[in-house]
Amino acid sequence: MPLAEIYKTNPFVLSFELFPPKTDKGMDLLVENVRQLLEFQPHFITCTYGAGGSTRDKTLDTLAHVQALSDIPVASHLTCVNATIDDLKSYLAKATAQGIKNIVAIRGDAPEGEASFQTTEGGLSYGKDLVKLIRSEYPDFGIAVGGYPETHPEAVSPDADLRHLKEKVDCGADLIVTQLFYNNEVFLRFRDRCTSAGIDVPIVPGLLPVTNFNQVKRITALCGATLPNDFLHALENCGDDAEAQFKVGVEQATQQASDLIAHGVPGIHFYVLNKSRATSEVLRSLKLPTE
Ligand code: FAD
Repeated sequence: MPLAEIYKTNPFVLSFELFPPKTDKGMDLLVENVRQLLEFQPHFITCTYGAGGSTRDKTLDTLAHVQALSDIPVASHLTCVNATIDDLKSYLAKATAQGIKNIVAIRGDAPEGEASFQTTEGGLSYGKDLVKLIRSEYPDFGIAVGGYPETHPEAVSPDADLRHLKEKVDCGADLIVTQLFYNNEVFLRFRDRCTSAGIDVPIVPGLLPVTNFNQVKRITALCGATLPNDFLHALENCGDDAEAQFKVGVEQATQQASDLIAHGVPGIHFYVLNKSRATSEVLRSLKLPTE
């Protein structure tokens, strides 16, 4: 089922994001974890597309494993990195042949070792160009794009970033999935600004439960998301007790999700990182809207 229809026909949409494992053992673990996550009856599952176009086939392979477990819809992420328009078209054809009807259309980042994103010769420069390409080649595809409550790090200004986000929607995106964030006020302000700018597609918060202190630095370095001080202190107070850190992380994510639901979000997209435990514990404590 295309994404637009999923959001139209469900009062609350639960989705999970995976990444392609590097090894067979990683794939076995992913399958086991997805099996556990299916208990929560997600409406769709997505799989990321690796930096530098490195996991082109692995993304489809990972989704094939999910498709073998369940008939819930899946979405493939796709980026413009190291890809010509022909490469992108051929990926879309492969995805279609595999029964995939949804794409998370993303510009992508520079491959490791390169300073900034460069447009490939014969390729595309922005997420909006990919949305346009997909809409012209496969008009019925569901398309999600990325949005940045704390503003994309390369954006000239928050207003410019918002304008570019609106362009992605105007080119045909069905919904926005946000970069992860930990301060709901930031998301709610972003949502208000989107509405004022005339963006009228679902804006879905992306949530990543942080379950250990080491993750904090990685997350901040990777996407610039800021973490609330009281949460950081609570994690610090756990010392080396991994289980205590996990518990603090789950509690924080549960509160965050519950508050977002109270603010009427159309769904939550969990960055599950191929593991089921943290998201499962959060979901067990949440009351998801049913109407
Ligand atoms: P764009 O929307 O193209 O924006 C990139 C920058 O360019 C922004 O600063 C924007 O303001 C600016 N901009 C846009 N249009 C214009 C214009 N016309 N003129 C001037 N400036 C412009 N990365 C991966 O490698 N693989 C993945 O699978 C992946 N999945 C993701 C999923 C989600 C939901 C999100 C939020 C991010 C994901 N990323 C992924 C990370 C993503 O690659 C980076 O955040 C990347 O830097 C931006 O991609 P984008 O599509 O949002 O960019």
